[in-house]
Amino acid sequence: MMKQRFSDQLAQCECCPRRCGVNRLEGRTGFCRIAAGAQVAHAGLHHGEEPPISGTRGSGTIFFDGCNLRCVFCQNHQISQEFHPSETKTLTTEALADEMLRLADAGAHNINLVSPSHVIFQAADAIVAARARDLAVPIVYNSNGYDSVDALRQVEGLIDIYLPDIKYLSNDLARRYSGAGNYAEVIPGVLAEMLRQVGHLEMDDHGIARRGLLVRHLVLPGAVDNSRRCLALLAQLAPATHVSIMSQYSPQYRANRYPPIDRPLTVREYDEVTDYALELGLENAFIQELDSRHRYLPDFDQDRPFE
Ligand code: SF4
Repeated sequence: MMKQRFSDQLAQCECCPRRCGVNRLEGRTGFCRIAAGAQVAHAGLHHGEEPPISGTRGSGTIFFDGCNLRCVFCQNHQISQEFHPSETKTLTTEALADEMLRLADAGAHNINLVSPSHVIFQAADAIVAARARDLAVPIVYNSNGYDSVDALRQVEGLIDIYLPDIKYLSNDLARRYSGAGNYAEVIPGVLAEMLRQVGHLEMDDHGIARRGLLVRHLVLPGAVDNSRRCLALLAQLAPATHVSIMSQYSPQYRANRYPPIDRPLTVREYDEVTDYALELGLENAFIQELDSRHRYLPDFDQDRPFE
């Protein structure tokens, strides 16, 4: 009898809340525009994540082409929206496992799957293959939060660290800025499921993450109320939830057509949000320097997008 692979479910894709139902195994594509093979735009050591993720040696990031959101301000738009399927590598399960092992050999503290929601099952098959070949570092699932709870349940045990965004608790904003009119309904269940699977963030004696949940929230210009609602949800989930409150917004891609996100975040907006996190009693918040925001913008047309 043939062994079942996670990717077999791509025959009627419901990997994410879009639930396109297309047969990706036959080369059809849905909203994310990716068929059966995961396409990797870039893989390398990355030092710009939160300290428990990047550590001293770097996080072994694997950036996937395509996305199940259409964020008008996406800083990775070159690979999430503007990619040409014929120009990037489509990796087999074994080749994706090879990349994971190569990054671990290069010293990565973890394997960091960036924007994996639409390739969750391809990634799951590769993790199984890499673990069989003695991959020992934690796997980080670094998603936009627009995930399928059912798909997450199926990969339980394969992911060590969940690193999701909470972008919105307003469907109006989610529709306008990301083309996802039900994001606010989806995200609470996703975060609860991730926390159930891996618990709160645990670190080793050097402050490097081993397991657990770390939620990211990017504060958007003119959307302090949205940020407040997002943080309140996290406090309700558990005051011990680790959250990274990100100040690095800058108007990328099509953001100049969508005021008020056609401008950078102000110091006052960021301070209002971080003050509110303290008021809520969120005990484990990572806060950025506002002047650090430009350091993090990648250019995927370069061989080394982060330099
Ligand atoms: S992963 Fe892609 S094809 Fe599948 S449901 Fe989501 S957007 Fe549609």
